[in-house]
Amino acid sequence: MTFQDLGLSEALLRAIAEQGYNTPSPVQAKAIPHVLEGSDVMAAAQTGTGKTAAFTLPLLQRLEGGQRPPRRGCRALVLTPTRELAAQVQDNVREYSRYLQLNSACVFGGVKINPQIARLERGVDVLVATPGRLLDLHGQGALHFDNLEVLVLDEADRMLDMGFIHDIRRVVKLLPEKRQTLMFSATFSGDITGLAQGYLQNPVKVEV
Ligand code: AMP
Repeated sequence: MTFQDLGLSEALLRAIAEQGYNTPSPVQAKAIPHVLEGSDVMAAAQTGTGKTAAFTLPLLQRLEGGQRPPRRGCRALVLTPTRELAAQVQDNVREYSRYLQLNSACVFGGVKINPQIARLERGVDVLVATPGRLLDLHGQGALHFDNLEVLVLDEADRMLDMGFIHDIRRVVKLLPEKRQTLMFSATFSGDITGLAQGYLQNPVKVEV
């Protein structure tokens, strides 16, 4: 199995090769084709399994070539439980999108909001965010979700453990119903399955 077999574009394959990745990890091999075809995907994968690339690579491919984001709009939203994870995910997005015409931003709490407002003004293809700051930004009119195509819930189990369920519910209510939703979690607990039933449509389940 190669990355090429998974249906990824030349621009992504070049970026992947430059990362030094030779072979897709199991979660990548199982999830990428389904994300590329537009299905909702619910994946159980621990940190270190290559889960970030499993959603980021096909997400970028789906966004490439589409309409540019409008002012204060965003096309894909990745929700993460912590600022550290948000920053890591955006680092990956930047590396993998090196040869694509896509931009990204990362917003989280504990830092000044004004630079984030200024960044969102021109629109974002991929926005990586923690839930609380995202809601603040939306409440201040700095961001809208009219053009949102894809939602990713990364480390969904940790978001629930950290008490973000109400924030997640508030965020999802703001999103278009017609979208692709991807959920990654270390395990499929009862709570996670419940969340998936509410937010994912006929999800493909991937376990590694
Ligand atoms: P993650 O599980 O997303 O936190 O990724 C763990 C680490 O594996 C990161 O440092 C990635 O850069 C790396 N990685 C992801 N996919 C691959 C791959 N197919 N081959 C080698 N390393 C990878």
